[in-house]
Amino acid sequence: MKSKVVLITGASRGIGRNIASTLARKGYIIVANYNKSEKQAEDLKQELKEENINIDIYKADVQKRNEVREMVSYVLNKYGKIDVLINNAGISESKMFLDETDEDWNNIINTNLYSAFCTTQEVLPNMIHNKNGCIINISSIWGIVGASCETIYSISKAGIDAMTKSLAKELGPSNIRVNSIAPGIIDTEMNSNLGTEELNQIIEEIPLERIGKTLDVSKCVNWLIEDDYTTGQIISINGGWIIT
Ligand code: NAP
Repeated sequence: MKSKVVLITGASRGIGRNIASTLARKGYIIVANYNKSEKQAEDLKQELKEENINIDIYKADVQKRNEVREMVSYVLNKYGKIDVLINNAGISESKMFLDETDEDWNNIINTNLYSAFCTTQEVLPNMIHNKNGCIINISSIWGIVGASCETIYSISKAGIDAMTKSLAKELGPSNIRVNSIAPGIIDTEMNSNLGTEELNQIIEEIPLERIGKTLDVSKCVNWLIEDDYTTGQIISINGGWIIT
């Protein structure tokens, strides 16, 4: 059987990068998108090449429709299909609500939410034609419970979750499953602003007594790809920190 083709946005660093290497090692065909971190993306490709695994890396700003369209065309021209789309690219914030600007709104909403809308629209015709697809949106627990000083971020992630639920209903008859993974705190550069004391306080609140690793998210992604009957779900990987 021909391997599944997986497109991952924001795969140069953090969670997306670990998803790319984990799935590549399992034999999936990987196209790893990046935007600013070219060196990290090249390093990822090289790291896997040393294990005799080839992946594609592709530069595109997922806020921009034309760049997303060219990226999707590249994948379809090369592999003829996209089986799995992982909308992972994202940025965070730390600001009081009254200090937020229109520029912050546009930047966060476009990177975290519009990107998923736009990339999914570009990929879907091929999935619908094949009557097969798996879309995984990386949202956040803050989209479920809200975060102080991260209002726009929380809005963007709640939006992603609403998109997941709506599309699961619309696309189920086309055999396309759509799910969100809503992580708690995962050890990536996104949390580099947290000091040791702050991290220890958070860990005290987590029943599994640690913050998450990128691999914790990748394992869930892998399970969702292999599953057949889960759709429209928001799966929170958070060590029991938030139980809704
Ligand atoms: P990260 O380490 O900061 O990595 C972010 C990734 O997104 C990078 O690869 C970056 O690529 C990419 N990206 C940002 N803007 C982009 C754009 N315009 N076009 C294409 N790629 C873009 O963050 P992370 O922690 O891995 O976060 C990944 C996802 O998980 C995000 O959606 C985040 O909201 C979500 N999440 C993270 C946590 C956490 O605790 N870490 C918790 C919940 C949810 P370049 O550097 O190449 O531009």
